[in-house]
Amino acid sequence: MPNCLDEITVLAYNTQCTFSDISLFQDALLKLEPALMQDIRKSSSLTFQLVSDLSNKLKKVSSVYDHVGALAFCLEKDLKEILTSHSPINIKDWDVDDALHSFAEKAIRQYSLRGLNAPKPHIEVVDEFPEPFSKMSWEAFCPDASDAKQYGIKPGIYFLRNQAEPLLSEILVAHELVHYYAGKNNSELLGRGLEDGLAELLGSLFIGRKLFGETATKNIYRNEYLLPEMDSFYQVYVDYTRIAIVLLLNYGLNYLFSLISSGRKSIKEAENAIFLKGIESLSQNKVLELSPVERNFLYFVENVLETYIRTLVVNPLDYRVSQFVKPGSTIDIICTSSGFPHVLVEEALDRLQTEVFIVLSSKERVQCSDTEMLLNNKMLRYEIPEGLIGKLKIEIQGN
Ligand SMILES: [Zn+2]
Repeated sequence: MPNCLDEITVLAYNTQCTFSDISLFQDALLKLEPALMQDIRKSSSLTFQLVSDLSNKLKKVSSVYDHVGALAFCLEKDLKEILTSHSPINIKDWDVDDALHSFAEKAIRQYSLRGLNAPKPHIEVVDEFPEPFSKMSWEAFCPDASDAKQYGIKPGIYFLRNQAEPLLSEILVAHELVHYYAGKNNSELLGRGLEDGLAELLGSLFIGRKLFGETATKNIYRNEYLLPEMDSFYQVYVDYTRIAIVLLLNYGLNYLFSLISSGRKSIKEAENAIFLKGIESLSQNKVLELSPVERNFLYFVENVLETYIRTLVVNPLDYRVSQFVKPGSTIDIICTSSGFPHVLVEEALDRLQTEVFIVLSSKERVQCSDTEMLLNNKMLRYEIPEGLIGKLKIEIQGN
C-alpha cells in the first residue's frame, strides 16, 4: 500500500525541485522523519501534516549558517515546492497490481493507434524474478517465447514488488511493452541495445508524456538516467535513447514503430548498419518534414536529454551561497547578505570557480558569475552528502 514517501515522490515528479538525485532525497527525508513510511490511508492529511512539521523543523535549523543549516534550507525549499504540487493519479487508492494492469491497457490503446497490435500480455508483480534472472538489478523484465522454451517462464511482463512505486513503475510498463512487441519476432535474440533506446523513446517518453504529462515524464527520465553519476549499466540506455532520437529526426515516428513491429532481427540489423556506416546506410527514405506531432515530441525529448546539464551539482552550502553571488560583490558583501562567515563564503566561491566554473573571483571580489541564470533555470542543483544528514538529524532533535 502506498506510504507518505510514495505520495511525496509523485508530487516531486510533478514539480521542479532542485535536489540532484531523488533516491538520495527520499533517503534523507526518511532518516529525518521515519513516520513517512506510514500508510497514507491512516488520515487524509497525513502526508501534508508530516511534511509541514518537518519543514518547520528544517526552517529553524536553516538559520544556522553552516553546512548543516544550508542543507536544511535546501530540503525545506524543495518540500515547500512539493506541498504546492498536484498529483495526476489518485495515490490514496493506488494498488500496484491494479495500477500496472490499468496503465498497460491505456498504453496498449496508444500503441495500437501507431500500428502495434497484440493482446495484453500476462502481467505479474513478483517478490523475486524467476531464474536465471533473479540476480539482475532490473525493476521489471519481459520474458518471451524463448524464455518460456528454455527456462519454463510464462511470457509476459514481471515487476519486482519491493521496487514498485507509483508513476515510475507505470512508465516502466510502457517501456516493457516495447520489448513485448519486438520479441514477437525473433525472440531468441537479446532484447537490448537499440531496442532499449526505442523502448525509452517510444515507451517511457512518448507514451509517458501522453498519459502523465511533460513535467512528470521529464523528471522520471532524468531521475532514472541523467543523474550526476551514472554507472555504465544505465548510461547505455541514455546512449541508445539518443540514437533513437536521431532516427526520429531523420525518419519520423512511423519508421520507429514499424521497426519495433518488424521484430528483434530488424532492430539489430538497423543497429549494426548505424554503427558500421551511419544512419545514411538505412534503406529508408528520410522524411522531408516532420509532422507537427513529431516536431513537438522532438522538442520535448531534446529538452529532456539534450539541453540539460546533469553535472552542475554542488554541495548545499555552495548552492546557498550562490544565491547571494553577484558580479562586483566582495566576500564581505556576500557575508553580510547571506549570513555565512567569511571563511565559508571564501571556500564556497573557490569551489564554485574551480569545480563547476560558474564564478570568476579575484582579490576577494566576484568578477563574473552565471549563478543567477543557472539558479533561475534550475540547472544548478544540490547534492545531499550522507554525513550531513546525520548531523542535521541531531540538530532537528535538539530543537
Ligand atoms: Zn528494457
